[in-house]
Amino acid sequence: QPSPALAAPAVKTTCPYCGVGCGVLATPDGQGGVGIAGDPEHPANFGRLCSKGSALGETVDLRDRLLKPMVDGQAASWEGALGAVAGGLKRIAERHGPDSIAFYLSGQLLTEDYYVANKLAKGFLGTPHVDTNSRLCMSSAVAAHRRAFGSDTVPGCYEDLDEADLIVLVGSNAAWCHPILFRRMIDARNKRGTKIVTVDPRRTQTGEEADLHLGIAPGTDTALFSGLLVHLAGAGKLDLRFIEEHTAGFDGAIERARQIAPNVATTAQATGLTEAEVQAFFDFFAKTQKVVTGFSQGVNQSAQGTDKGNAIINCHLATGRIGRPGMGPLSLTGQPNAMGGREVGGLANMLAAHMHFAPEEVDRVRRFWKAPNIITGEGMKAVALFEAIERGKIKALWVMGTNPLVSMPRADRIRDAIAGLDLYVVSEAVATSDSARAQAKKTVLLPALAWGEKDGTVTNSERRISRQRAFLKAPGEARADWAIMGDVARRLGYGDSFAYASAAEIFREHAALSAFENDGTRDFDIGGLADLTDRAYDAHRPAQWPLPKREAKGRARLFADGRFFTFDRRARFVAVQPPALAQAATPERPLVLNTGRVRDHWHTMTRTGKSQRLSGHRAVPFVEVHPDDAARFGLKDGGFAKVMTEAGTATLEVTVTDGVRPGSVFVPMHWSDMTASDGRAAALARGVTDPVSGQPELKATPASIEPVAYR
Ligand code: SF4
Repeated sequence: QPSPALAAPAVKTTCPYCGVGCGVLATPDGQGGVGIAGDPEHPANFGRLCSKGSALGETVDLRDRLLKPMVDGQAASWEGALGAVAGGLKRIAERHGPDSIAFYLSGQLLTEDYYVANKLAKGFLGTPHVDTNSRLCMSSAVAAHRRAFGSDTVPGCYEDLDEADLIVLVGSNAAWCHPILFRRMIDARNKRGTKIVTVDPRRTQTGEEADLHLGIAPGTDTALFSGLLVHLAGAGKLDLRFIEEHTAGFDGAIERARQIAPNVATTAQATGLTEAEVQAFFDFFAKTQKVVTGFSQGVNQSAQGTDKGNAIINCHLATGRIGRPGMGPLSLTGQPNAMGGREVGGLANMLAAHMHFAPEEVDRVRRFWKAPNIITGEGMKAVALFEAIERGKIKALWVMGTNPLVSMPRADRIRDAIAGLDLYVVSEAVATSDSARAQAKKTVLLPALAWGEKDGTVTNSERRISRQRAFLKAPGEARADWAIMGDVARRLGYGDSFAYASAAEIFREHAALSAFENDGTRDFDIGGLADLTDRAYDAHRPAQWPLPKREAKGRARLFADGRFFTFDRRARFVAVQPPALAQAATPERPLVLNTGRVRDHWHTMTRTGKSQRLSGHRAVPFVEVHPDDAARFGLKDGGFAKVMTEAGTATLEVTVTDGVRPGSVFVPMHWSDMTASDGRAAALARGVTDPVSGQPELKATPASIEPVAYR
């Protein structure tokens, strides 16, 4: 494993936080510190950084780092730790079968790490149970794309935001969660008068800055967009030629939409909006040709997330507003490499390179990898996977770069389930994370490189592959995830297939696997990058896929020609289900709990928590409560309350605000039980999932609340 080179003054790299994927100039000071600036040449941000990105220099110190392998709580040699992992996996596979082994990966991993994990598990160990925390982030968008387009393809790009005349943001607090993209939207408004509409039960910072904010009732998005589809038809705004020549299923979709929301009045009734609000939105959408609809976790993290995504896409297909400048649905990805994980098959329902489980696809991957134990079908998705651990079906779990003990629904049960595992392996940068502190019968912690130390690629929300480059020395005994897995593979007898000397080598293999003869039927093809030399890989400039062989540059947009990736090249309308919460509020739990991010923290705060500046924004976990509910439940702004659900309890500071709807409360997702006593938000969710995507509902959990008196 080569040690990363200490590079010359400013190293071009990519921010490790959100899916915007901003370019960063990192200037190491030689003492372990680093100066941070936005990369003016990166097409995602053109030199800008948000509060999190610009504070990256405050987060690279070695406090709390895991710097040595640990076996059962004792420092160990790499030899001993890798032996424990390989020996444990071998024994468990022989005794219980390979599908008793599971991997839980992360959108924080680099594509190269993700690729090797997926190959090791699905091709060599022979277990299909590889899923990722991206399941919690955008798997409903993936499923909606696949149903509509026949592929998981984001049709447009960030430039569309610059060129749109109307931007609709659904379930997205972009001002805080995708801040640099939101600045582009505000720029578009300043330059060309672009209107911004937000659809969100909470009036967030994004809603505050919108021209129209629609504070819909939780879970009613399919009613809003069904009503819009009906309105577009009635207003003569359908693109009938596009529907006729390039799509299928319109009649079923419009018929269902008419049942759900036949007019403005019924749409208003179903969504809890006023008729004037609904009419204003419908008029904006109907009269504006250049419309981008951005959607994020408020759509995805739902038991109806896939239908919500398709209800949005239906409106774009019906108007032919897709794949052309300034038009289209745009899934805003949460994590820095959720897209890269999808490319390599890091989701349990994928194989590799956007392939699934058609026999010819399985065979192609088997031959390419020379894989002795290729899987032939889907594995368990995250929630089902952790339930299988609870039931004792999974005996070994390898977690990389994520913290399910904080971020998964019903996290307390996950801690208990992990305790029952025969083998629990954690590849981690942080010694004190909840993941690293959990214990199984045999627990192995493997110190992994962190941002600034590791080397590879990530793909952002507009399909743009950028480099993350190393500019700091590997601390202690930390190593690249791909190198760790390569050593485990060698101990299992698969060394020839994992003899990688560099991230560049892995990337070339991944690109070659994606390279199809250019028959136009595959979306993900980066064959044009399969022959990069090490030097060209190192110098790689951000590029969008698809980028097949013989094409000089990637494509900014797809589907302008009306040809999709279904077998008949037609897009599909989807007849979506009427809106319904997975479980409505009850007299015992009369509130609906919503979860989400705050401006200055990322995930479980293992990085942003190091910055005093970032921690100053919101210092303690809190619950937002409407004034009516505060009065009803005896809560005071600045006081404390217990939020209770079927899954758990959190103690939180009360913020009284009319930004949440009466009957709803909001709790941020970042705090763990280390950072504040039982302040975890996701742990309160019940683990109900979308039937298509498997993504858990994290936006609407029945809850009760009561004041807590502190002396
Ligand atoms: Fe990083 Fe996202 Fe902020 Fe850009 S917008 S600097 S990618 S956190």
